[in-house]
Amino acid sequence: MMENKYDYLIVGAGLYGAMMAWRMTTQGKKCLVIDRRQHTGGNIYCENIEGINVHKYGAHIFHTSNKKVWDFVNSIVPFNRYTNSPLAKYHGRLYNLPFNMNTFARMWNITTPDEARRIIEEQKQEMRERLNGRQPQNLEEQALMLVGKDIYEVLIKEYTEKQWGRPCTELPAFIIKRLPVRFVYDNNYFNDTYQGIPIGGYNKLIDGLLNGCDIITGIDFFKPNDLCPEANIHRWREIADKLVFTAKIDQFYDYRYGRLDYRSLRFEHETLDCPNFQGNAVVNYTDKEVAYTRTIEHKHFEMFGDKVYDIPKTVVTKEYPQEWHEGLEPYYPVNDDKNMQLYASYKALADQEPDVIFGGRLAEYKYYDMAPIVEKILEI
Ligand code: UDP
Repeated sequence: MMENKYDYLIVGAGLYGAMMAWRMTTQGKKCLVIDRRQHTGGNIYCENIEGINVHKYGAHIFHTSNKKVWDFVNSIVPFNRYTNSPLAKYHGRLYNLPFNMNTFARMWNITTPDEARRIIEEQKQEMRERLNGRQPQNLEEQALMLVGKDIYEVLIKEYTEKQWGRPCTELPAFIIKRLPVRFVYDNNYFNDTYQGIPIGGYNKLIDGLLNGCDIITGIDFFKPNDLCPEANIHRWREIADKLVFTAKIDQFYDYRYGRLDYRSLRFEHETLDCPNFQGNAVVNYTDKEVAYTRTIEHKHFEMFGDKVYDIPKTVVTKEYPQEWHEGLEPYYPVNDDKNMQLYASYKALADQEPDVIFGGRLAEYKYYDMAPIVEKILEI
């Protein structure tokens, strides 16, 4: 039998695909990475506009408490000291995120942790009585138990329903557990020990990871292609021993059990003739009257203090959430009960494939951050 040219065909050049390519290449394996888009990097891809790295598919902030993960990514490209501290705007009024003493002081005109605790405890009590000993079943119940009614109504409910296109009562509780609640004046969005952005942008991370493997962009695994006819779903075994698949798992199985839901996003990028538009990288719009969920001013990820004035222009992106349909990019799995059941049937099929590794947000139908992907693959 003729030997295959590649050990691995990797479908998708996002972070999962690129990490697998790095892992396998360093183990002496030969990899071919393909991607439907014209570029590598998946959703962490950046485009340089006016000297600013623009996160084309949504803001990405790397954060982890795992020193091995942090040292690893920094060995590929050094990271800066960016600390995420988004603002939330509700009907024109600004609040600090995550939920901390700055938020509470603004919300209730108080100053001490005791006052904040008392108000939140009072508001939680109502929900506690309704739960009557059972665990919160959905995002609304979880949020009311975490921060009470006022914060829920101003900073969570409308934002979340806009983001996910579903009532908070139908969304899984874990989504909101991502956000810290603190009785100290600390606007750091993450609890992790390390966070930052690659100096020079995320493309450097991806390029470093893909070093040493073959790459073809602009080809769709699900369609016959001229560039590499064997790199498609019917013929991949002709070129590689194993397949790493990072795209939609339901599509891999030709939607035989039905379609999984995904949330998509639409980005409106704009270059503005001013050096500093909103004074912060991220502003969330938490009321339902504004159609977008957030505005990102990209230069603040990499330029701090007066440095933002070194470039006279700025690039701002408005992020509009929408339901996914064919032709749009899928960004988030919708991990509600209905979809999780459907995913379980696809997962059962996937478990029967000895030569295919399914990984990442779309193939595992999981709301992954970047660091857990790196961590998982470092452990292989
Ligand atoms: N969230 C919210 N208000 C905010 C920011 C976040 O209610 O101002 C909730 C919302 O349900 C969202 C979840 O917290 O889906 C997670 O937010 P995060 O910013 O971590 O999500 P991502 O950046 O992955 O979209």
